[in-house]
Amino acid sequence: MRIVLLGPPGAGKGTQAVRLVEKYNIPHISTGDIFRKNLKEQTKLGLKAKEYMDKGLLVPDELVVDIVKTRLMEDDCQKGFLLDGFPRTVEQADALEAELNKLGLKLDGVINIEVKDEVLIDRLTGRLVCRKCGATYHSKFNKPKQEGVCDACGGELYTREDDKIETVKNRLDVYKNQTQPLIDYYTKKGMLKTIDGEADTDAVFAKICEALE
Ligand SMILES: [Zn+2]
Repeated sequence: MRIVLLGPPGAGKGTQAVRLVEKYNIPHISTGDIFRKNLKEQTKLGLKAKEYMDKGLLVPDELVVDIVKTRLMEDDCQKGFLLDGFPRTVEQADALEAELNKLGLKLDGVINIEVKDEVLIDRLTGRLVCRKCGATYHSKFNKPKQEGVCDACGGELYTREDDKIETVKNRLDVYKNQTQPLIDYYTKKGMLKTIDGEADTDAVFAKICEALE
């Protein structure tokens, strides 16, 4: 099974990825992970990528594609793979298709987990963290017994900068602007499978599997 997984922050992509790789017995290929691995092992590609990152530049598509391509050649990808965080641009998507074509392979599906902005904002903004012990709560889904106070240690609860509404809205906008061209690309190719991500995780997982069969 060869899958690309798309979804905004807060859509539950991570949870679904874990279940998909288990069900189909395929590796979870996250670009973040393979970049870190290449940097750590100081591979040729990793060192090249580091040059860009050290200068604060984006790693060019060509190099990202090379790094992913190298990973896809490893033995465990024979059974398939779940790509997460790649492709990120239409150029990368084209390169992926070309590469798979060469091997006589194609993607089984591009899963797009869709969740309304209001719901994402609810999920992503309510987090409260204890200043003293780091325990986390949620203002809607996991309230502390007493407002603003940690159940575990009595410490003060606060909202991290990352979890503030403006920051979250901005992250969602960035995601949308970046991903829309990819969604259009895979829609045109008839490969996009949009899944309603607002149901509970079991129901979402069942829908994803159904879309892939
Ligand atoms: Zn605490």
